[in-house]
Amino acid sequence: MILKNKIEPEVNWQDIDTVLLDMDGTLLDKHFDDYFWEEYVPEVYAKQNKISIFTAEEELLAKYKEVEGHLQWTDLDFWSEQLDLDIEELKEEIKHMINVHPYVPEFLDYCRSMDKKIMLVTNAHPKTLKIKMAKTKLTDYFDEIICADEIGLAKEQDGFWEKLSEKYSFDKNRTLLADDNDAVLESGAKYGIKCLIFISKSSSMQPVVHSPKFPSIIFFKELMDGCSA
Ligand SMILES: [Mg+2]
Repeated sequence: MILKNKIEPEVNWQDIDTVLLDMDGTLLDKHFDDYFWEEYVPEVYAKQNKISIFTAEEELLAKYKEVEGHLQWTDLDFWSEQLDLDIEELKEEIKHMINVHPYVPEFLDYCRSMDKKIMLVTNAHPKTLKIKMAKTKLTDYFDEIICADEIGLAKEQDGFWEKLSEKYSFDKNRTLLADDNDAVLESGAKYGIKCLIFISKSSSMQPVVHSPKFPSIIFFKELMDGCSA
């Protein structure tokens, strides 16, 4: 485990009213998404098109790269059409692999016990959100659940947080945002969100990688221990 260069978080909970949480990689194990796009889809795509796994991987990687950082990346209907596959159905087939990260329910309980407003803010498509919430049963923890689709921009795009705050009021000076994507924290910082937390272990199958710029945690337990509540 690489612990060097970690910027330790300092959260003063009395200064926080709203907690904005990402879904994939932050609350849920990103291994599901990595496996789905990097192994399961190439396998099915290769079979359907009668090509090798290697060719399928190459073709798909090029297609993925084209829409990285844009809402199309998470749009199930876009991919179903692009690849001529039922992406929603394929996700359903392996939904048993969807898992919650350690200490997440405890952290959500902790936030609720302090009466914080908890908002799930995800780039995930509404259909993906539905499958994941059905499997993880986390829905009731949140005051609001927002798909970026509804805002019309991905979270890392300029203007996202302004638009979000117009629709769902929150005070950026009293808000914590946790995400496993540096670019999303960067856009949050630009907008002026006070407390930014990077998730260093987005997948149970990947090593810990801290952010060079933002305070990082491996598990949410770190925001519950030794912090003034
Ligand atoms: Mg994420």
